[in-house]
Amino acid sequence: MVWGTIGVCGYVTVEGDVYLEEDTWDPATGDPAPGSFAVRRDERARREVLFFASRRYPELAGCLPVKSAQDPACADCSGSGWITLGDHHIFCGQCGGLGWVALSSRGGEG
Ligand SMILES: [Zn+2]
Repeated sequence: MVWGTIGVCGYVTVEGDVYLEEDTWDPATGDPAPGSFAVRRDERARREVLFFASRRYPELAGCLPVKSAQDPACADCSGSGWITLGDHHIFCGQCGGLGWVALSSRGGEG
């Protein structure tokens, strides 16, 4: 595990696999389902894990995608990587905190 917060853990394996485990929720109670996790390996999950983990392990920043001149700023966060709600700054899930979205990944998975 290279990063974690409430309900989410990020992993990088020695083989280079980057993935997230998220708590799943019991729809009947609205509570976390004990011992039940969903694994995500999509591009957003990969960016999120590498973005947060690189704060603790700077060498992982080299694994983040590199912005090309054609890649536009993220529309959700106006290129900052963070969304402001009142006094709170929330990580932008659309761009994974990078502030931009690769043209090749736009219109892909939600
Ligand atoms: Zn964004």
